[in-house]
Amino acid sequence: MNQKIYEGKAKILYATDDPEILLTHFKDDATAFNAQKKGQIRRKGEINCAIATHLFKFLETQGIPTHFIAQTAPDRMQVTAVKIIPLEVVVRNIAAGSFVARTGIEFGTLLKYPIVEFFYKNDNLGDPLFTEDHIQLLELATPAQVIQLREMALSINNFLQKFFSDRHLTLVDFKLEFGCERSGNILLADEISPDTCRLWDDLTSDPNQKIMDKDRFRQDLGNVATAYEEVLARVKL
Ligand code: 5GP
Repeated sequence: MNQKIYEGKAKILYATDDPEILLTHFKDDATAFNAQKKGQIRRKGEINCAIATHLFKFLETQGIPTHFIAQTAPDRMQVTAVKIIPLEVVVRNIAAGSFVARTGIEFGTLLKYPIVEFFYKNDNLGDPLFTEDHIQLLELATPAQVIQLREMALSINNFLQKFFSDRHLTLVDFKLEFGCERSGNILLADEISPDTCRLWDDLTSDPNQKIMDKDRFRQDLGNVATAYEEVLARVKL
């Protein structure tokens, strides 16, 4: 049995015989609002693992370095061991979620250009929005790394927007995490899935039915697993 080295809200990380390689287990557990709301989504572990695998492979073909090595079971993925940079890098194309609450820009507004935001990954503080000065002061990343994170995030957004739009899904916003290899190389880490993206179905104009992501769970809209399954089916197209 592999040694568990970290258990997060949606994933468990295990060590392997090779110190450079870790094993990620995707759980069916779902949480929202800093774990104040808890539940399970049927087959989420397998669905998100399959979606993340597909998207990591796609991004690698576009020249984005990721931690993905291989999918080893329906809900397991081998990844390169990295030191996670404790920042959530959010890219937004359309106003939704906390951005609406913070700016007053109307929900659903197409932004003139994609917005990048950094949040400090810290559950005790509720993942606050951080400026570059905050990042420097707490030494979470160097100024050069912040520039690189921003460039990588925007480039990933370009690739994913087109990828999803070809599948009749609008990429509203998403959260990325990055990690540093021992060499200092920055890799895209964590996962990309309906847990970490807002995706709207272009094939319906019904505001409730459009939502294909974790907002269905957050807002108790029902049919959460069905929406995740549909995203997987389209990702595989
Ligand atoms: P917001 O800041 O509007 O709550 O989230 C922006 C985007 O980042 C959404 O797609 C949301 O799913 C994702 N996101 C932000 N923080 C987290 C987080 O802590 N966990 C997950 N899974 N996604 C997050």
